[in-house]
Amino acid sequence: MQASSSQEFQFSRFVTIMQGCNNFCTYCVVPYTRGREVSRKATDIISEIKTLVKAGTVEITLLGQNVNSYGTTNQVADLSLHYSFPDLLTEVSTIDGLQRLRFTTSHPKDLSDRLIDCFAQLPNLCPQIHLPVQSGSDRILKRMNRKYTIDDYLERVDRLKTIRPDIAITTDIIVGFPGETEEDFQQTMNLLETVRYHGSFSFKYSDRPETSAAGFDGKLSEKEKGGRLQLFQKRQDQISLERNREYLESTLAILVEINAEGKMMGRTVTNHIVHVEQAPANLLPGSFTEVEIVHAGQHSLKGVIAPFQD
Ligand code: SF4
Repeated sequence: MQASSSQEFQFSRFVTIMQGCNNFCTYCVVPYTRGREVSRKATDIISEIKTLVKAGTVEITLLGQNVNSYGTTNQVADLSLHYSFPDLLTEVSTIDGLQRLRFTTSHPKDLSDRLIDCFAQLPNLCPQIHLPVQSGSDRILKRMNRKYTIDDYLERVDRLKTIRPDIAITTDIIVGFPGETEEDFQQTMNLLETVRYHGSFSFKYSDRPETSAAGFDGKLSEKEKGGRLQLFQKRQDQISLERNREYLESTLAILVEINAEGKMMGRTVTNHIVHVEQAPANLLPGSFTEVEIVHAGQHSLKGVIAPFQD
């Protein structure tokens, strides 16, 4: 499964709602390169999305370094001092003709109950969230300056799964952060078993200029980092396959992204890629169709066009 769409189409667009970041995770250059958080005015965002939807866009992904803190560092609405990300999501979701709404990226510490509740309340908010955890060890999370513990994180995950049992959760992982012991790494592996992410982006830690972590002691060798990354990715691949097999024989709606020479590709609400062979040519990119899932791989599904569609 892909954590987020990598391509933009007229029918599926990304809309930036904020830029910059105030979090200063010790390994990250964003606060230095992009500066502090600035949220766009809500009216500008809504008007941009209305224009896109009028022009045929059916799927919008709200984009920002930390969308959950939208509106907390500068005023974004003319009338309300406390207009926040759930307010924006709710307002966007009511735009006539918008079929699918997504957002990325979320910082776990700012994932409020109100935002989680949106997954139950907004029918076009897709049951999918990218929730970067980075490590399963509280000690390493503290060194990373992530400002949450694994218990906090798991409490958020539990609430998400309770509110939307069908939600697909993906994450980012850094292995081999300075000072990461075998035990810390094992805690990351344990977290993977507990959450059973649908997919993840995992990386070996590497120094970034100007960051505090670049000056930390306890750096691991490339060999150690590589070994841990391999272990993590191997287990994630198995879990992704197991999760994807849960969709076998189900009928899912996909938004068609490509359809050429009988080969079609689209995405489900959970952002799973589905490949369809012998697809009818009249299913144009940007249209929806239902497919029956006949094969599950680690990174994608295969389907056939479901019979008896209107
Ligand atoms: S990792 Fe994300 S939250 Fe942390 S400083 Fe970088 S952009 Fe901000």
